[in-house]
Amino acid sequence: MNILILGAGQLARMMSLAGAPLNLNVVAYDVGTKQIKHPLTGEIYTTSLEQAISDADVITAEFEHIPDDVLTLCCNSNKFYPGKAAIKTGGDRALEKALLNKTGVECAPYQLITEKVHLELAAKNLGKPLVIKTCQAGYDGKGQWRLKSDVQIDEIWSEMAEFIASGTQDAPHTIIAEKMIPFDREVSIIGARDKHGNVAIYPLTENEHTNGVLTLSVAGKNNQNVEAQANDAFTKIANELNYVGVLAIEFFDVMGTLLVNEIAPRVHNSGHWTQQGCHCSQFENHMRAVAGLPLGNTELKHITAMINVLGQASIPAEVLTLPDVTSHWYGKTAKPGRKMGHINVSAHNMNDLSDKLSQLTDYLPEHDYPGILKTAEKLILG
Ligand code: ATP
Ligand code: MG
Repeated sequence: MNILILGAGQLARMMSLAGAPLNLNVVAYDVGTKQIKHPLTGEIYTTSLEQAISDADVITAEFEHIPDDVLTLCCNSNKFYPGKAAIKTGGDRALEKALLNKTGVECAPYQLITEKVHLELAAKNLGKPLVIKTCQAGYDGKGQWRLKSDVQIDEIWSEMAEFIASGTQDAPHTIIAEKMIPFDREVSIIGARDKHGNVAIYPLTENEHTNGVLTLSVAGKNNQNVEAQANDAFTKIANELNYVGVLAIEFFDVMGTLLVNEIAPRVHNSGHWTQQGCHCSQFENHMRAVAGLPLGNTELKHITAMINVLGQASIPAEVLTLPDVTSHWYGKTAKPGRKMGHINVSAHNMNDLSDKLSQLTDYLPEHDYPGILKTAEKLILG
């Protein structure tokens, strides 16, 4: 079966790696260069997008920021999963909040902003600090402002007005202000839904962010009550979207109550641990779901942590001297802060995981890989 993925980055690469043993052949459409590529080798084909759509049995996406005309072309082929509405919703925080309201799933109090008066209202009604985000085009903490006091309103508004003015009638730019949530931790849930509506959900993942970017995830902690809330939110949202494929939801955990932060209609960085931690990874399950195959087992096989490799030219080979450590390289050109690869660390129990993470700090210095030792210490404390 031939699968066309919109987007030619690391997620397409890992979906392609997972699809090969299932006899699923993947080509990727690079939205930036408008070229059809091999997702692993980067080889560029002369095929047009229209031809690639026609050659494909199934079309899917590795990210949500896809031009509307491309989405429409793909949808018109009736081969596109998870569908235009799901991709549009994941790519626009205002649509995301509307979906949460409709499904009755809780999120941070917010105010949509298109004029300065809305910002002033948000500062007054939601309280400070405020987290202000562009509704479209944000990722890895980019396109965000923090408003701590009213004296910043004029300055921040001038930058916000610039963003709003750069929108077009077809692709308007809007902004959202959210109450800054004093969360205890950030968690996410990843799951798959197939064409018949069957759902398979992975164990909850706990995520560490540094400067707005995911640095480390841990899966396998026992979190029954919180996990039940996350699974409920997943099922409501996936069913409402009539979703097909893997869907990720990020949450803030505030004293055991979950608030949704955002929804990603795709495989997600906080699910990379499933490559070693589960029988069937998120990448394989996404490929299975869109190809109409049965969903795979999402139960925990091994407690696993994932460490992001940000901006480094390579993964230190010494990490492979430790048992149950695997390296995943994306084959991209290094740039400061860019997601270059990740390291998965599996363990027999939380103490073992803590030991392994501590040992890894010999090769992964705090400056380049923040938070590993802190996580190792937290795992022992429970
Ligand atoms: P990504 O797509 O990589 O997950 P993003 O750019 O879409 O990131 P968010 O996930 O919305 O952005 O925000 C990045 C981080 O900023 C969050 O993981 C969280 O740590 C912090 N943050 C965002 N919104 C809030 C909020 N309302 N209260 C407190 N912290 C927040
Ligand atoms: Mg996020």
